[in-house]
Amino acid sequence: MFAHETILHRLRHGCQTMAYPDGPAPALPDRHGGSLRLDATKCAEGCGECVRVCPTEAIAQPPGHPVALDLGRCIFCSECVAVCPTKAIAQTGDHRMAARRRDDLVIGGPGEEQVRLAAALDEKLRKLFGRSLRLRQVSAGGCNACEADTNVLGTIGWDLGRFGIQFVASPRHADGLLITGPVSRNMELALRKTYAAVPEPKLVIAVGACAIAGGPFVGNPQVRNGAGEIVPVNLFIPGCPPHPLTILDGLLRLFGGLDRSLDRR
Ligand code: SF4
Ligand code: SF4
Repeated sequence: MFAHETILHRLRHGCQTMAYPDGPAPALPDRHGGSLRLDATKCAEGCGECVRVCPTEAIAQPPGHPVALDLGRCIFCSECVAVCPTKAIAQTGDHRMAARRRDDLVIGGPGEEQVRLAAALDEKLRKLFGRSLRLRQVSAGGCNACEADTNVLGTIGWDLGRFGIQFVASPRHADGLLITGPVSRNMELALRKTYAAVPEPKLVIAVGACAIAGGPFVGNPQVRNGAGEIVPVNLFIPGCPPHPLTILDGLLRLFGGLDRSLDRR
């Protein structure tokens, strides 16, 4: 192909990058039910059907509450939604799930039917990282689906670079880590060293059920149950794997770049 044909080809294609977040968010695929909502007031007392079917022990019946669901442990299999006789647990179709605190992912308490979404970083960190954030990715023993959906953000359709966020090879050039996987024993030392090599101040982002709480590997002696056991985590992004939209939403939330009036709809 001649150079002028290449240029014409590019011009005909126009801009392929989605308008989000200035325009509407792309729809989740039909099979993706989005986040979960738990209305414990509808819960049939002592039923426990959801607790029995959950493969990752994400649902419990703590003292004083009919039921509590930890989105950080959830792999979004929807088994609990299917078995709940009172429809207390429902899919929301909402891609937004990222939280700053681990406790904010636990839903079902009074007034806490849904995840408490991540607040922005304080002003000093926003000024430091808001226009340029370099992340080193650490793959710490998962199945690689979380990495695949993180990689999607680098494609032309998502163009993560337009927000000033890029992945770098060296932790010494990074402002933080994006960790996937439950942290296998073999990766524990590597994660500690990589974290230590990132200059202060630094951020840690745990992506996926494994990195948050061990995911499907929870309790296995060959893994730690999530990155939080090794390093302090600033942002938790649930999913197994999280949809790229959920990851992007979480990253942008750190800088307050999203309309928070929509957060508790
Ligand atoms: S959707 Fe989540 S909470 Fe419900 S059964 Fe599956 S893993 Fe457990
Ligand atoms: S959270 Fe799920 S998709 Fe991500 S690494 Fe673990 S098993 Fe794989």
